[in-house]
Amino acid sequence: MTTVKSNVDSTRLENTEDIKSTEISSTDNYSEGDEKLSALNTELHSQEGFSSFGFSDGLIRTLEKKGYKEPTPIQKEAIPELMLGRDLLGQAQTGTGKTAAFALPILERISPTNGRPQVLVLTPTRELALQVADSFNAYAEGHQGIKILAVYGGSDFRSQINALKRGVDVVVGTPGRVMDHMRQSTLLQKELQTLVLDEADEMLRMGFIDDIEWILEQLPEEKQMILFSATMPSEIRRLSKRYLHNPAEITIKAKKKDAQLIRQKYITIQNSYKLAALKRVLEISAKEAVIIFARTKVITQRLAEALEAANHNVAVLNGDVPQNLRERTIERLKLGGIDILVATDVAARGLDVERIELVINYDMPFDTEAYVHRIGRTGRAGRNGEAILFVSPREKSYLNNLERVVGQKIEKMEVPNNEFINQFRIEKLKTELASETENKKDDDKESSILSKLVDELETEFEMSPRQVAMNALKLATGKSQLLINEDESWLTKQDTFRRRNERYDDRSRSRRRNSFDSRSPEKDKQRYRLDVGHKDHVKPGNIVGAIANESGLKGKMIGRIQIFEDHSLVDLPKGMPTNIFHNLKRVKVMNKELNITLSN
Ligand code: AMP
Repeated sequence: MTTVKSNVDSTRLENTEDIKSTEISSTDNYSEGDEKLSALNTELHSQEGFSSFGFSDGLIRTLEKKGYKEPTPIQKEAIPELMLGRDLLGQAQTGTGKTAAFALPILERISPTNGRPQVLVLTPTRELALQVADSFNAYAEGHQGIKILAVYGGSDFRSQINALKRGVDVVVGTPGRVMDHMRQSTLLQKELQTLVLDEADEMLRMGFIDDIEWILEQLPEEKQMILFSATMPSEIRRLSKRYLHNPAEITIKAKKKDAQLIRQKYITIQNSYKLAALKRVLEISAKEAVIIFARTKVITQRLAEALEAANHNVAVLNGDVPQNLRERTIERLKLGGIDILVATDVAARGLDVERIELVINYDMPFDTEAYVHRIGRTGRAGRNGEAILFVSPREKSYLNNLERVVGQKIEKMEVPNNEFINQFRIEKLKTELASETENKKDDDKESSILSKLVDELETEFEMSPRQVAMNALKLATGKSQLLINEDESWLTKQDTFRRRNERYDDRSRSRRRNSFDSRSPEKDKQRYRLDVGHKDHVKPGNIVGAIANESGLKGKMIGRIQIFEDHSLVDLPKGMPTNIFHNLKRVKVMNKELNITLSN
């Protein structure tokens, strides 16, 4: 055995050991066994794939069918630990293959029992819940009798209860809906063996932290806990320290490599010209599918209408779109019925559609994490992708922050001008014409009729082949002109606008500062000072979220928020307990500690 050990990758040793011992146990001839061992050893080296994890034949076949040849880095590191039943704290983003990293070993460790849930996976959104449940289903093809259910808000409660009653082994759900089921005892937690928190930082950001802790408190003491998070804010660290036991810790920096597969660009653009710029960018993008992120539902709707009017195949994905329609929309995007999706952050979280080759950040994301999540919608599973960010002149300083986080330069890009677009249109037409030759089938009946038509034009009308071709091209390009001839003077005016805007901004900011400070807080509130301001790109929502998470205050208890260049003021109910005050000091918003102090 020792010869084998020294040659085999140590992280896989525990799992391969079993296979090897069963392989040789039937051999009573030592030298023959030795040969077998060395053959096996060579095999282990040559087929790096999934076979060395000690997976069942059924799972290996499923993975082969799915075309997974090599485990991704997170899978290489996490699977051996999880197969041993260890707790795991993993820092990895979507797109790294993390779902399979936890789903595969989980499936291998459970067997269908009495139908009480054995595994619970919590995800921040229903889209991700559905996606993870889909992945589980796909991976469980070779695991007879394992039942998986997604539970999330916005879908029929009763049918979920019925499914739970019929028996489920793996429940994937959003915290709120899982809590509801637990409270009603429709989800019984007594037999849960494994809990997965997927995209924990996202759940924190969305204000689910209390719900998660509540759920954790209900679960059996003895269980395996797996926590995945793209970033590790202090709150997630605290959670992991409290609930994970001696976890294996894995950080996958490969995401950086993934992000590098995504070419990132920005366009400086005045708000009023964004739509015109978007249409121009889309015209020259030549991408299979595109996702456009906008800040609000209203903007997504308006954009979709404008793009539809410009003959794009477009759909909206926002919180107002009912669940069943969202699922249909995503399906249509996958199948090519839609090429452009206009979405809000929450609605598109976790979206995994390989066709998406371009992400356009029409509106600036609320923070750097949202940016990372957004651009992660492209470049899926090692594919190349592109991301374009629209930045208004005054948002430009935010770029440095983004570049630091993604560890990559975001290149400047110009809005394509008329000349560029026309060049593009001509090239496109040329390529299409040239590829028609390749498409031509000799036995095609229509082609022979057309060819006869050309002959007739040449003889009856004495037209040259060139004239025929020219006329045909004019007809093909249709009534709309081949060349764009729109006013483009605004493209060159951008710089002048920017300078004027910056001056105006400074003036209005200082005016606001003077008028705000003079208003005192309501009588039941006290004013506090926070160390984050405009220069950190903080928005009121970030402050409300952080304070509500840490202090347990309801959003509506948080009073007026005033944001200044290097600090902010917030009015909070009088009599804040010292421990909360103390904790709030260390809470980070936009990566900066709030360092809250009483303002006088
Ligand atoms: P995830 O990070 O879980 O969102 O996975 C990202 C994508 O990678 C999904 O489309 C998976 O189907 C795919 N994937 C996961 N593991 C592998 C693998 N070992 N080989 C090829 N594709 C994979």
